[in-house]
Amino acid sequence: MYLVKTGKHTRWRWLAVAFGVVVTASCYQEPPDVGTLSAVYAEPAEYVRILALRPGQTLGQLLGGSVTYNEQASLLLALREHANPRRMRSGTEVTLRFSRGDESLRGVDVEVSRDATVRLSLVSGAWSSELVPTPIYVDTIDATGEIRSDLWTAVNQNQALDSMTAGDAARLIDALDRVFQWQIDFSRQIRVGDTYRFAFQREIRPDGSMRAGRLIAAELVNSGTAYHAIWFDPNEDGDGSYFDLDGNSVRRAFLLKPLTYRRISSAFTNSRFHPILKTWRAHRGIDYAAARGTEIMATADGVVIHRGAKGSFGNTVEIRHPNGIVTRYAHLSRFRGGVNLGTRVRQSDIIGYVGMTGLAGGPHLHYEMLRRGRQMDPLSVDLPPGDPVPSEDRLRWMGEMTARVSLLEAIPGAGPVRSLAAAEEQDQLEDRSGGAQ
Ligand SMILES: [Zn+2]
Repeated sequence: MYLVKTGKHTRWRWLAVAFGVVVTASCYQEPPDVGTLSAVYAEPAEYVRILALRPGQTLGQLLGGSVTYNEQASLLLALREHANPRRMRSGTEVTLRFSRGDESLRGVDVEVSRDATVRLSLVSGAWSSELVPTPIYVDTIDATGEIRSDLWTAVNQNQALDSMTAGDAARLIDALDRVFQWQIDFSRQIRVGDTYRFAFQREIRPDGSMRAGRLIAAELVNSGTAYHAIWFDPNEDGDGSYFDLDGNSVRRAFLLKPLTYRRISSAFTNSRFHPILKTWRAHRGIDYAAARGTEIMATADGVVIHRGAKGSFGNTVEIRHPNGIVTRYAHLSRFRGGVNLGTRVRQSDIIGYVGMTGLAGGPHLHYEMLRRGRQMDPLSVDLPPGDPVPSEDRLRWMGEMTARVSLLEAIPGAGPVRSLAAAEEQDQLEDRSGGAQ
């Protein structure tokens, strides 16, 4: 890209030199040189006092020491245009700005949230207010690594992510879980030696915390199979979705697991040491150890056909899905309000909370998938995907996908990213050349 730009620029220069007179006379004009102003030192016109709202203290009480009662009333009135002065959390930072000359109050800044400050200013004798957004900057962080125990540990120990707070790293792991929730059950399927790489775009506040973040490209190689998720938002309205390299949606009719990966306790995360198959054969279901009260999601759209106690299953929800599949969620501590017999639920809706009702040794979710009354392993069910990239957006998709994939390929130590189709083609070529020899 850079080379192309330079080339064009150089050509333009040549044209400008060759037709200098003509160009100057018609349209090409250098901007006038305004020079540089020399710095002038001046005493700041105001000084500030920074206060913080104490627990139980009102904003009026805090201002009381610095302004008259009348001024306080008009300040609060101006503030009300953007925030409720009665709803200020303790610790709210209030900056008072005084004139250096007569020591009068010239302005008040009230940090109403982490993302905005209300700036109150005295303009010709009256208080006015404006909402000033906290400046943020956007960056993209990328990381790659091999998984040695589980994804949680791998991401948390990645040095490329050292600048992230623990809370922000957790949000990143949630984001990875969300984009791969139809392809991989991180709690059951991650194997030692699996690799990952991703590019994560985030909005950062001046204090280094993250306001928002989005995975824009991710790859997970699980037991030799590469899974990709590339963000694509055709209308750029934030309402985009993830697709694989061939433009197919990563969405499937069923989520692979009804709990967020991060909520599944490490006891289960390490379950590969006591193989799931054993448990599976023992009672044809999957047990997810998780703290009591953990939210349980419906794995697909459907209708609730059971909600209540069910023998050794304890509190149980059963959902019937359009394709004749029934999912069962057992040992719940309680049901989500509004989830009743006949309730229609959407994929990812919360239906209840983890518990240990019925026959359960500890808090866990027992999850089953049944077709005509027979249990099936959710990992073995291949159900129709969501809509691919619409044909009218295909050209745009190709451009954005290529750019996002190159972000992954640019991560030091990462190799080329190959789509499934390309990988198969390569394999066939290798097979053929192998056969000829
Ligand atoms: Zn079970």
